[in-house]
Amino acid sequence: MLNLVLFGPPGAGKGTQSDKLIEKYGLIHLSTGDILRSEIAAKSELGIKAKTFMDKGELVPDEVVIGMIKYKLTENNHSKGFIFDGFPRTKEQADALDKLLDELDTYIAAMLALKVEHEELVKRLLKRGKNSGRPDDRNTEVIENRIKVYHNLTSPLIKYYSEQNKYQAIDGMGTIDETFNRLCQKIDTL
Ligand code: AMP
Repeated sequence: MLNLVLFGPPGAGKGTQSDKLIEKYGLIHLSTGDILRSEIAAKSELGIKAKTFMDKGELVPDEVVIGMIKYKLTENNHSKGFIFDGFPRTKEQADALDKLLDELDTYIAAMLALKVEHEELVKRLLKRGKNSGRPDDRNTEVIENRIKVYHNLTSPLIKYYSEQNKYQAIDGMGTIDETFNRLCQKIDTL
């Protein structure tokens, strides 16, 4: 199995790059944001609860997202591997992921971290808000809060994966294809 954490702040291009990577490498895309949005669309109890956090740009509680990932991993345990997009976002989630993968006799091969400047992130998110209708991409305050939450709670995971020698920085400032090629070059060395 090849399991990758595609990492980076909101607007870094994780979703776009995941779509291209799963096609090339035959992996399963696990985006906790996408799963939560489909729960909201289905008006499930989980979705209704999650929406209150997402509308403010805050993180949904760890136990909720860890439970979702656990379910998806067991459902797809014979796959070629997974791309984790938007997960883990806290140390607790990273610990839980390592344990879950260990139970499946596998592990994270690398954390590929997309590097994009702050101004460019805000620009991309506002543009996506116009095109996709995602409510959390339409409000500058919510966007700034999501980036702040990323710096406070999520970016410490760079240290977590560096200590396991798995951290790889990728320049995410270029075109979609330039970033994709950089990602592929790294993945092909794994
Ligand atoms: P994303 O689609 O990854 O930008 O996530 C959109 C929103 O969903 C985030 O702002 C959080 O409110 C929530 N979310 C997604 N993934 C997670 C996660 N791993 N942990 C906590 N909240 C999450």
